Formats: sequence, C-alpha cells, structure tokens
Amino acid sequence: MELFLTENQTEDMRLSVRATRVLHHEKTPYQELLVVETPQWGRLMALDGFFQTCDRDEFVYHEMGAHVPLCTHPNPRRVLIIGGGDGGMAREAARHPEVERVDLVEIDERVVECCKQYFPQIAVALSGNPKVHVHIADGIQWVQEHEAEYDVVIIDSSEPIGPGEGLFTANFYARVFRCLKDDGILVAQTESPWVNAPVIQRAYRGIRQSFPITRLYTCAVPTYPTGLWSFTLGSKKYDPLQAEPEKRVGTLGELRYYTPEVHRAAFQLPVFVQRILAEA
Ligand code: SAM
Repeated sequence: MELFLTENQTEDMRLSVRATRVLHHEKTPYQELLVVETPQWGRLMALDGFFQTCDRDEFVYHEMGAHVPLCTHPNPRRVLIIGGGDGGMAREAARHPEVERVDLVEIDERVVECCKQYFPQIAVALSGNPKVHVHIADGIQWVQEHEAEYDVVIIDSSEPIGPGEGLFTANFYARVFRCLKDDGILVAQTESPWVNAPVIQRAYRGIRQSFPITRLYTCAVPTYPTGLWSFTLGSKKYDPLQAEPEKRVGTLGELRYYTPEVHRAAFQLPVFVQRILAEA
C-alpha cells in the first residue's frame, strides 16, 4: 500500500510526499510530532501536519537563518535561538569562531529528543557542543527575563498558530529588542510571500516599530509552501546590505547555500514582494 504524507499548506493547496515508513508518531503536550522516511527528501519531520525540516533541503533554511545575521554583526559572541528544536540553526551558529555561547530555547522537549534520535546530522550541536546550551522553556518568557544580553536573536519558530503564535507579535519583537545589546540583530522566519503576505506584513510592521533597520530577504526551500521563503531582519545598528561577508565566510567550513553573493542577492526583492512591504 502506498503511503503519502500530505501537508495542507493552505485551504486550497496541498503538498504530498511519498513515505516508505513512519519512524515516530506521538502527541506531545504541545503538538503532534511525526517523523517519516521519504525517498525524495530523506527523513522529514512534521508538527501538527506542517512540514518543519527534512534531510535534503534543511541546509538552505538553516544557513540563511544563521549566517545572514551572524555575518552582518562584526562580533557576534552571544546568540539566542527561539524554537529551533531540530538543532539546525544552532549547528550553523556554532560554526562561527566569534560565537562563544548559543542559548537554544525550545518549548517542546520531545522535538529535541526526537531530532537527536532521527536527525543526527541536523541535531549534531545539541549534545556535546560546549557552545550550545539547550533550555526547555517558552521563548516568550525567556526574552522577558533577559536584558541587553545577546548580539543576535534568531526566531526559528513553527507556524503562527499553536505554540508559535505569540512569536509573531509586535509586543514580542519589542521584548526581543530589549534582550539584545545596543548593536544587536534579530532575525525571524516569516513564511512565504505567495501565500502568507499578511504574516509578513504583520512581522515587518512589528519589527519596524522597534528596530531602526528592517529588511526582508528570501531563499528557496522546496518543502515549504510555494518554495519561496522569507526572513525578516531587524537591526539596531548594522545594515545587512553593508555587511562584508567575504571577511567571515572562510572561517565557517563547507557551506551548501550561503555565499557572500547569495547574502546580497537575497535582499533583492521581486516587485510583488516589494509591494507587500510597501503596504505593510
Ligand atoms: N524550520 C521550521 C519551519 O520554518 O517550519 C521551524 C523549526 S521547528 C523545530 C520550530 C520549533 O519552534 C518547534 O519545535 C516548536 O516546538 C518551537 N516553538 C513554538 N513556539 C515556541 C515558543 N513559544 N517558545 C519556544 N519554542 C517554540
């Protein structure tokens, strides 16, 4: 019998991926957690039916979420990742020699444990990397309790429904602003310009309320809805368009998506995306 895992990406659009085996399925206190084996994408994890990460394309999202802000900041020593329980963002952040400590704050312990078991290459930094400290806690609470502590904060959240909902609000971005140092940078994953324009507008508006520099950039992630994905960056001082990633990229080891040219190109937005921001 053929098994297809189908994500209802919107009310009118679905993505089906053939799966050969269910490796793990449970209802955690926060969400439904599923890991399957697929011929096309390797192992794939879904939370509440939404595809979160998979072996073959995870490097795109994680390299672009981490290296764009970290190569923009001249000396990023302390990094906070909110969500990101699969460990991919922490793995990329820990590559930077300047980074001394990464705090990863994930609400669902089961995601962390499950990814250590089924995605060892993605979760590699979650056990045994002395820079990376995993905290099982709510990111919203965490940013309330920390002030002027971080150089870079990366919001690697799930969709803006369920436990991730509060991570897309202007209030939350204002709290992140306070937990950053005077020259800190925030990056948040902000979904697809094709089907989530209101999410992008809300995040862009919210970040712009707190941060003097606000910029959207995109990358291509084939297993996320429409394949065109966005991050929104808020910065207190450093403009990612003025960054000199050439000076840093050589220290990161072998990458598969991020280059200095990709860094700059990612901020060049098609007209329809520019309009989404103009109307934010
Ligand atoms: N790359 C994925 C994507 O864009 O689809 C997101 C990665 S996934 C591992 C996001 C994680 O955020 C989930 O494991 C979820 O449990 C966590 N999360 C959701 N709300 C949170 C909160 N309030 N505090 C901390 N972590 C949260």
